[in-house]
Amino acid sequence: MPSRTCSYLPQHVVGFAVDPIHVGTGRSLGHIDLTIVRDPVTQIPKIPGSSLAGVYRAYAALAMEEQRAQAGNQARRPYYPNCAGQGGNAGNEEGGHCRSRDCEICTTFGFARDGAGGFAGLASFSDAHVLLFPVATRIGPVWITSPDALRQTGVAPPANVDDDRLYYNSRRQQQKPLNLGWLLLPVEPLNANAALDGLKDFGVLEYVRARVGLVSDKLFSHIVNSNLEVRTSVSIDPQTGAARSGALFTYEALPRSTVLAWTIICRNPAHFTIDGQEVNAVRSCANVLDVVKRAHPYLEHLGIGGMGTRGMGRLRVLHPPLEGSNG
Ligand SMILES: [Zn+2]
Repeated sequence: MPSRTCSYLPQHVVGFAVDPIHVGTGRSLGHIDLTIVRDPVTQIPKIPGSSLAGVYRAYAALAMEEQRAQAGNQARRPYYPNCAGQGGNAGNEEGGHCRSRDCEICTTFGFARDGAGGFAGLASFSDAHVLLFPVATRIGPVWITSPDALRQTGVAPPANVDDDRLYYNSRRQQQKPLNLGWLLLPVEPLNANAALDGLKDFGVLEYVRARVGLVSDKLFSHIVNSNLEVRTSVSIDPQTGAARSGALFTYEALPRSTVLAWTIICRNPAHFTIDGQEVNAVRSCANVLDVVKRAHPYLEHLGIGGMGTRGMGRLRVLHPPLEGSNG
């Protein structure tokens, strides 16, 4: 019998942008042709959970397929591309999700079916939010965070954060005002050992942790939006491989070395059935998480979001640590 010990397991995930990341809205705004998705309330750029779920599904299916091919298992249908992607037409044997209770991908990520009987999937994904955002200053990069950004990751923020201040531990004696991009702010010491320890537990590098600055939530949104990467590029004609005339476009992206955080909820398969039968492929919350985590090495190499062919989107998972890596 499957274990019934937990009903769900939350897993915080923290990732480091190896490249700029562009998860677009497909809309233009002002002088930006391709804008990125923002939280409607805070206006801070984010990666929607639905985008994360799609990418995790594709990469986990790739990982399962590699394993199936290596084992020479002809008995089971390919995980990739069938069980990855959008699912295709119901009843189409050629493609689409297998929708089997024996399939790690379809049970973990769910499937649709015409009429009744779809399955929501055992894993669900929050939006990825900006935890630490790199800003150029007079003394080099500083990674900005805010009380809300820490709280959403389960890290306790320091109390009493005033607006229009930068809390930062300068390595120099006196705390002179510091520029964050174009904004000059008075500096006060950052007394936030609990928060900094929390970042250490999430695998954030020492170099970054030594350069963390804290600002209020309101200021955080302002600073992030004023320091996004904005690039102008030219679109390429796929027929000729040459630039299309008049095809300059401008797009924005989260800059390289942004630290993002999201939460994956893994539900206990024992509480669900598919076609009235118990779920076979995964037997516990931990099993579901194991399937999900298979996507992590691929996130670093294949990336997320648009313009991967322009060297964008690679995201290195810092936490939880990859299997077989140290720490
Ligand atoms: Zn499947």
